[in-house]
Amino acid sequence: MTLPVLIAGAGIGGLSVALTLHQIGVPCRVLESVAELKPLGVGINLQPNAVRELYELGFGAETLNTIGIQTREWALVGLNGNDVYSENRGLLAGYHWPQYSVHRGRLQMLLYQATRERLGTDCVRTGQRVTGYRNAADGCGVVALLESRSGERSEIHGSLLIAADGLHSAVRQQMHPTQPPVQWGGAIMWRGVTRAKPIRTGASFVGLGTHKHRVVFYPISQPDPVTGLADINWIAEITVDSSKGWPEGDWNKRVRHADFIHHFAQWNYPWIDIPAMLLGADDVYEYPMIDRDPVPTWRDGNVVLLGDAAHVMYPTGSNGASQAIVDARVLGSMLLQHGVGAGALKAYDEKLCPEISPVILRNRGAGPFGLLNLLDDRCGGVFDDIEAVIPRAERDEFMHRYKVAAGFAAERLNAAPPTIPPGARVGPAG
Ligand SMILES: Cc1cc2nc3c(=O)[nH]c(=O)nc-3n(C[C@H](O)[C@H](O)[C@H](O)COP(=O)(O)OP(=O)(O)OC[C@H]3O[C@@H](n4cnc5c(N)ncnc54)[C@H](O)[C@@H]3O)c2cc1C
Repeated sequence: MTLPVLIAGAGIGGLSVALTLHQIGVPCRVLESVAELKPLGVGINLQPNAVRELYELGFGAETLNTIGIQTREWALVGLNGNDVYSENRGLLAGYHWPQYSVHRGRLQMLLYQATRERLGTDCVRTGQRVTGYRNAADGCGVVALLESRSGERSEIHGSLLIAADGLHSAVRQQMHPTQPPVQWGGAIMWRGVTRAKPIRTGASFVGLGTHKHRVVFYPISQPDPVTGLADINWIAEITVDSSKGWPEGDWNKRVRHADFIHHFAQWNYPWIDIPAMLLGADDVYEYPMIDRDPVPTWRDGNVVLLGDAAHVMYPTGSNGASQAIVDARVLGSMLLQHGVGAGALKAYDEKLCPEISPVILRNRGAGPFGLLNLLDDRCGGVFDDIEAVIPRAERDEFMHRYKVAAGFAAERLNAAPPTIPPGARVGPAG
């Protein structure tokens, strides 16, 4: 009997793996710790490289338009309200695929529903936390150790274990027991969604403020045809002294407006009233901007890390979810090339681990928001004419370097063949 590939975690990464394995004819089973998946989280961005993969998994523009909106612009605006930088995004920037701003929970539910439809309703087992693993002594297969919500322990055998169990990955902890705790550089984010009229292009991602004190906002839904209102995702952020540390990060910690609104009380511009936008959200979540130091390998025998479990990064580059989707597809392509076995995991690890680890550090250094650091260095963030402080060519070059490193430079992506050739099915392990 063929053992299934085991996947820990039914987040965006884990579900993308399940759908990819189904596409290439590899049986799998997803083990998810929560009792019931719910559409949690607020906005995320899907870069064109990830949208391409979603299209190839059968989620075209018609489907993605139901959970988000195609992004048209990425802009940085100084605290004085003057533009620092702006560029087209997605199709307008020459990509063959759009960029999307979507609701994270709605994307997860879309993938979950498709997984249940395509792979069967029992493919995702909820209420099962993966607590660790054991590689088979003869190198053939793996055992995942499980714990149910009531504390009952069990084991399940698989050919491989793909750990997509997120930021606090139990599998990664076993694989790298001496890894340092999560790293926090002092930034605190408050996140919410407010019904409001989108500004600028109607689908603009705007970062407003300084490198240490800013608000990022963008629409994540189509505007209502009658009122023009859309769901505006916002992140308000400050940086404080991090010497006392902040050991845990929980995406779902609710806070009151009164806990943070004073940091942005004066941010009223003729083109946007920031306090009104922040106060317009019913629910606000607080989250420290955390990541983990890169590890030298994502693989141990028949076990491999994927998504945030492999490379949780600051959301400054808007590429956490995108990279999880791309990981899933690259892993699928390696299974196609090498068969279902440790060789495929080795090839995946050798390709992605050295490529993505520097992106973690680049995002820690502010990612594309690094332009605001440069601005601060050169003029303390005070300027009338941005051209006199950072010439356009320098700003363009800075952004281009980031996109190349993060794998979403237009020319390279457009020229690349599909990660998974249409109709490809996996053969026996080589
Ligand atoms: C509830 C939630 C809300 C989020 N909200 C945002 C947001 O608003 N903005 C943003 O930028 N990013 C958010 N993220 C993170 C974002 O989804 C990820 O950075 C990105 O999508 C990569 O996804 P992933 O699948 O690797 O990890 P995740 O999306 O974190 O998914 C991991 C999954 O594994 C499950 N899991 C965890 N431990 C175990 C275990 N031991 N065994 C089995 N299953 C396990 C989790 O319940 C989860 O379903 C959120 C993540 C979560 C879990």
